[in-house]
Formats: sequence, structure tokens, C-alpha cells
Amino acid sequence: MQSAAQLGQQYGRYVMELSAQLLQPETPTALSQMERDIRTMLLKQGRFLLGAWLTMLDQPYPAQSIPCPCGAEALFQFRREATLLTILGQVPYQRAYYLCPQCQQGRFPLDEQLGLRPGQMSAQLESLAAMTGAQLPFQPGSQLFESLTLVSLSDHSLAKATQAMGAEVEAQEQEWVERSCDEQWLQSQQRLSQGPQRLYGSLDGVKVHIRGDGEHPWRELKAGAWFTTTQQPPHRPHEDWEIHATDITYYCDLCEARQFGELVWATGCQRQAQLAQELIFLGDGAEWIWNLVTEHYPEAIQIVDWFHATEYIAPVAQTAFSGEAQQKAWTKWVRSALWEGELDRVIRAFQEYGDHPRGGEAATRAVTYFTNNRHRMDYPTYRARGYQIGSGTIESGCKRIATQRLKVAGAIWNEENAVRTAKARGALLSGQWDTITARRQHLSPPLAA
Ligand SMILES: [Zn+2]
Repeated sequence: MQSAAQLGQQYGRYVMELSAQLLQPETPTALSQMERDIRTMLLKQGRFLLGAWLTMLDQPYPAQSIPCPCGAEALFQFRREATLLTILGQVPYQRAYYLCPQCQQGRFPLDEQLGLRPGQMSAQLESLAAMTGAQLPFQPGSQLFESLTLVSLSDHSLAKATQAMGAEVEAQEQEWVERSCDEQWLQSQQRLSQGPQRLYGSLDGVKVHIRGDGEHPWRELKAGAWFTTTQQPPHRPHEDWEIHATDITYYCDLCEARQFGELVWATGCQRQAQLAQELIFLGDGAEWIWNLVTEHYPEAIQIVDWFHATEYIAPVAQTAFSGEAQQKAWTKWVRSALWEGELDRVIRAFQEYGDHPRGGEAATRAVTYFTNNRHRMDYPTYRARGYQIGSGTIESGCKRIATQRLKVAGAIWNEENAVRTAKARGALLSGQWDTITARRQHLSPPLAA
């Protein structure tokens, strides 16, 4: 085996050679050119070092045979060359190759040991590429990626990495779903923990443009969040406020409500929602949301998000009054009544304009909405208990997962790619990236043909 000292000497000579090439006496044209040249040189050095390191790790005198899983012995053939796509660029290397005469399976012990995936992106490169793809559309993403790393990846490769990460999120969710159906596991959770003191859940949906869905190209991406917050709601109804949620878990899927319910329950089990002393759900008025909450968490407190509820007021005011001052005064009055939980007065106020020639439609919609959801709008009680009444978190969650990334102008998605990109983004925003990346690293390399 080449010793580390020998490789170090080789590396030193290589660095000197590269430096000599770089440090020419002619005056450089610009600092940025110097920076770029040095970065390029450092990448070359990195590739050299990584290749040397891999060579060092491969056995210099390979065993003649190694055990094969089939029970027979795989025999050493020769050293086979391959290329790793890494964050330093493409790194060629050689490693011992074994072939089993019985099952014809080829094996590379070094690849297995280090989780190398020749010809594919390394886990590190894939993680960074996917992180970019989860943040930006693939084409500008790949341009930015190359500018920052000097490693060129096509937008297709960026998409592939992002979706691979999304698929890993999907696999993890599937495990969670299975576990969340396991009575024994649920009981053991109950024995071990009292659950969180107060946990919030919220649900929302946003329409995404899907290719090839014929008459229904816009499909609803359903998103949910689990979070905690120590912040109190404000004291007056006319203040703007943002919830600073902490410890947020986002999840999402493009599916029917019933199937999404499995994910709500499964992700909830990860947060011990079923054991929470107080579980509070925030949402808009959508029926599927409250049906799922009632089905899976019958004890949870259901609250219609304050911002959604108040959105119904202005359209009625605008059609009922021509003067802006009157509109404002009326809106303010209805908001205050709603804030104080005077639902009868609020509903009566809308009913008054139900027959209005122009405002009628908005008023009738408001009457229905407030009548159906009045038991979810007891805002004075919620405030008294210190509950959050605005679902800013998931609103921004849905916006952050779907609207910002999937609803870029003109974007039409393949269904699977949309879901996986959204899931990758959800994991990133939930601080789950390292967990998902670690799962990818543990993937065993493909067996040799
Ligand atoms: Zn075999």
C-alpha cells in the first residue's frame, strides 16, 4: 500500500506544479480572474487528493476471494476504473472487482464500504444540488449552482437530485404511516411520554398546474404543519401580527383528503400530537380540513383562522357602501364584533346586505361561512387561553412549499415531480434536510452487473 506520507509527497509535488502554472509573471487582468483561477486550482487539488485517498483505501493486495451473500465465494478479477461525480468535480478511481461464479453477481468492497455510487452524484453533491433545486426553479438553479461551486450540473440533473430527495421523504413518510397504524407502537409511546403541553396543527391547500390531467389541470396540493409557539395573540383586532412558530414540521401531498388523512395522523404521531395535553387546529373554512381533524383528533380545539374569517368582510363592505369612509367604518365595526365573539351580530350584519343588488352574493357567502363555522370562531375564549388564532404559519407554509416554488410563471408539472419537489422543499423548511440526506447516504451502492 502507498503510505499516507508517500501520497502526501505526491500531493505536494502536484500542488507546486499547479501553482507554478498559475503564478505567471504577467500582470493579472483583474482580481476576480485571480480568484476564479485559484478556485479552479483548488478543485483540481481536491480531486487529486480524493483520488489518492481512495487509492490508499483500496487494498493493495486484494484477497483472492470474498464471501458472496449467495453462500459461494466471489473471486478477485482485476481493478476496475470508475468515476465519481463529486462536489469537487469528476474523480476517477480504481478499486478491486470480484465476481461470484455461482450467482454471477459482481462486487466492489470499497464501494460498499464507503457508499460510493460511481457514475452517479455523490451523496454530498446530490444533497447540495437538491437543496438548490428545492429553493429555485431548476434552470436558474443550475446556473447559480455552477457559479457557486464551479461544478456544472444540467437543470435535469438538479431536478433528478431534488426529486430523489423528495422520494426519500416519501419513503420516510411511508414508514411513519405504517408505524402509526401499529397499536403496540402507539401504546409504547403513551407509556413513555406524556406528550407535548400545547401543540398546534394547521392544514391548507393550494392549486398546482399538472400536465396531462385533461379537464382538471389544476390539482390541489394539500399541506399541513405541526408547530409550537410561545407568542400571544395581539390585544386588538386591527393590529397586524405574524406568528413566530418554532419547531415546525411541514408535510404535503397531491391526493384526496382521505389519503392525506393518513399523513396527517402519521406525521402527528411523530410529534406526539395524539398525546398532546392541548391540541389546537387552525384552518380556513374548507370542509375537508375539519372533517379530517374531527376524524383523527376528535378532542382537538378547532379554530377558523382569523385572517381567513376577516377576508369575508371587505367584499361585502365594498358593494354595500359607495363611500370609502363608510366601507372602512363598517368593516372596522364587523371586525370588532367578530373579535368579541358576537357571532349573532356579525351574521345579522351580513344578512342585512343579502338582498343588496350588487353586494348580495358576497353577503350570502359570508352568512353561510360564519353560520357553518361559528363554533370555531369563539375568539375571546381562545385569546383568554392564549391560543394563536391566525394560521400564518401554514399559510406561509403552503406559500413557501407550493406557491413560491411550484407556481412559478408558466410552470406545468408532471405529477410525480411536483409532489417530490414539494416534499423535498417541505423537508428543507422543516429542518429535516440532514436526516433525509443521511438516509440517502445509507443507500447501498448498486451491485455491479
Ligand atoms: Zn454469489
